[in-house]
Amino acid sequence: MAYYIIAVATTKMDIAILGAGPAGLGAAYKLAKRQVAGVTVVEKATAVGGLSSSFPISGIFADFGSHRLHTECRPDILADLQLILGDDLLLRKRRGRIRLQGRWLDFPLRPLNMIKKMPKHMAFGLLFHLLFSKFRKKPTENSSFSDVMMRGVGPGLCRDFYFPYARKIWGLEPEEISSIQALRRVSARSVGALLRRVLSSLGILGKSKAAYFYYPRKGYGQISEKLSVAAEESGATVLLGTEIKKIIRNEPSGFKILLSSGKGTYEINADQIWSTIPLTNLIKLLDLPVPQDVHQSLNLLESRAMILVYLAFNKEKVTDFDTHYFPEEQYSFTRVSEPKNFSGFGPIDKTILCAELPTQVNSKIWNMSDMEIGQSVIASLVIAGVLKGSEIPETQIKRLPNAYPIYKKGFEDAFYLVDHWVGSIEGLVTFGRQGLFAHNNLHHVLEMAYGAVDSLQENGMFDKENWRNHRVSFDKQVVVD
Ligand SMILES: Cc1cc2nc3c(=O)[nH]c(=O)nc-3n(C[C@H](O)[C@H](O)[C@H](O)COP(=O)(O)OP(=O)(O)OC[C@H]3O[C@@H](n4cnc5c(N)ncnc54)[C@H](O)[C@@H]3O)c2cc1C
Repeated sequence: MAYYIIAVATTKMDIAILGAGPAGLGAAYKLAKRQVAGVTVVEKATAVGGLSSSFPISGIFADFGSHRLHTECRPDILADLQLILGDDLLLRKRRGRIRLQGRWLDFPLRPLNMIKKMPKHMAFGLLFHLLFSKFRKKPTENSSFSDVMMRGVGPGLCRDFYFPYARKIWGLEPEEISSIQALRRVSARSVGALLRRVLSSLGILGKSKAAYFYYPRKGYGQISEKLSVAAEESGATVLLGTEIKKIIRNEPSGFKILLSSGKGTYEINADQIWSTIPLTNLIKLLDLPVPQDVHQSLNLLESRAMILVYLAFNKEKVTDFDTHYFPEEQYSFTRVSEPKNFSGFGPIDKTILCAELPTQVNSKIWNMSDMEIGQSVIASLVIAGVLKGSEIPETQIKRLPNAYPIYKKGFEDAFYLVDHWVGSIEGLVTFGRQGLFAHNNLHHVLEMAYGAVDSLQENGMFDKENWRNHRVSFDKQVVVD
């Protein structure tokens, strides 16, 4: 295999960005526009977008599960996305529903529908909880997901909704999950917050943000594709299908990155590395002695895997909804989406459904054949009344090893150790969902990317103090559903 060195003569500093998901590409786009550094993005996949990419099934753009750009997106970031996507970034009304005890509740929640459809014991439980919420103990540092949610919404909703959902998503008992998971993952953590959401659907508290979302005409992946094109137009290089073999420290500063692709094995030099790849993988690639405690901590930074089951139908639509939520444990999936209903575009006589099954790599279901997994999902959808028994759709399966970070109690100390050690390596910055082990949305990782670019001074120095301030704000990011 050929071995060569790419030498780029430049007076500017060179920054290598690892990973061409939205975080890496958002940074490449902003950085290349500033023209303060040469930018090379290294991506192992043959397409951009990471978890937020899209691919065609039956002529429809399919995503890795239900993806939408939330209206909570920071205005300057939204303005950039509107600029690069133009008319292709559509504003759409949400249309979802939740399966609860044999009934369907609208999602986003709406007052009349809730009164009609919410099981009465659950509604009274919420009201009772609201009346006595003042007297409940505040969660402490040692609290769990269970403590935060029990205090916030009470035992009824926890038992019937949040706890079974949590068990499915993270594969842990609610008592084993860190309180941070509740703070980062659940936006409606109290009866008051829930009620505000419901009332906002009436427009009483202003226009409801939750009722709408942005979605690109050609699938969620179009955001990353356009960011990639815009970054390249400003001078960045995006290397796809490129594996990182090793990262070696150059003396006195900078890095040598050994790469492998269809072109052979080669190396690039970078003054700084901005990594958005999984933190644990990054550490394995570093040709540096890893302290024992950091090494041990890596085992506590686990990710939940996900199986995505795509069912293709030769008909216009299965339902009118974009997403169906299944909190109950009798269903192996947490959500089922109909991608065509996200954009409203696609072939007239075809549609697909996508079911999301959180699991572990090498679990029983992970190792089942595609046909077996497909059949079990179809059978459950028939029970839920989404499909008729006579329908036999074509099935495609995708397996994601790193879908969600698992915040098991105690992960905080492990993350702190790993993050501090990586942060102490001069010239190395990590961000993005996988780089900061953060359960967040695309607009959040773009905030991280923009924060990193904001921390790069004109002279090429990375302003650590400024970055620390940005990092504090990332800790307040809460996933929007
Ligand atoms: C089921 C599901 C539903 C979601 N729904 C939404 C939603 O509705 N709205 C929303 O905004 N967000 C949603 N998200 C979150 C969103 O997908 C992520 O926040 C976003 O994609 C994170 O971007 P990132 O660039 O940080 O990481 P990623 O998207 O994970 O990208 C990381 C990139 O690094 C690459 N990489 C990894 N290892 C290496 C290596 N060794 N060498 C080179 N490259 C490497 C990967 O191939 C990937 O391209 C959802 C996520 C999931 C799993």
